[in-house]
Amino acid sequence: MSNELEISLKEINESIPLPQLLEELYIRLVPIWPDTRPLLHYNNCFELLISVILSAQTTDDQVNIVTKELFHRFPNSESLAAADIHEVENIVYPLGFYHVKAKHIIETAKVLQGRFNGQIPSNFEEMIELPGVGRKSANLLIAACYEKPGIIVDTHVLRVLFRLGVSAKKEATLIESIIRANLPPEKHTEFSYAVNRHGKFTCTARKPACTEQKKHCPIDDICPKIGLSALLKQRR
Ligand code: SF4
Repeated sequence: MSNELEISLKEINESIPLPQLLEELYIRLVPIWPDTRPLLHYNNCFELLISVILSAQTTDDQVNIVTKELFHRFPNSESLAAADIHEVENIVYPLGFYHVKAKHIIETAKVLQGRFNGQIPSNFEEMIELPGVGRKSANLLIAACYEKPGIIVDTHVLRVLFRLGVSAKKEATLIESIIRANLPPEKHTEFSYAVNRHGKFTCTARKPACTEQKKHCPIDDICPKIGLSALLKQRR
């Protein structure tokens, strides 16, 4: 860890204990970004599950284009479980990693058919056993389909919370456990979506608002801006 990072973490942790910092982020960001729906287009939990698997390493917009054709051709787990893999590969090709993605969604459809009577499991542990479904996806699905608390740590949440000094590492399981330990469950889903949108539209990877002359970040005063010293110097 660099000296700069150590100093910043010390400052933020001493000035605002984690429970208060997360609560403050919740209070400020949720009213700005109150929507807790995924940006993926879907009509039911089957479509959301398949879209989430396909969204690895690509954008929601690209997935939304591809799934129009995919769900027209394979509208449920029964039809997808019986699909020819080459046909599915052709449809999901634009998303990259098309071979493994096609394999995962067909296998997932088969598991849904074989073990869950075509339904999406409501249990987190069963959900992460589905091919192509990790903790982030399982949390998103549990929250969207069953209205259970979900801590959805994606690349935007990782980046924002690292810059804020919530975690010294950009590690999803670590950040998920920090949120779980310091924020009440009923706030997990709203917090995740608000931080995600803040990262996607304000604290972006290359041009976070605090490094731009005419932009404003609503949590600027409580953020140590870890890792941004080079960009901040350019602003001056
Ligand atoms: S102050 Fe900068 S680094 Fe911190 S959250 Fe806002 S945009 Fe991101």
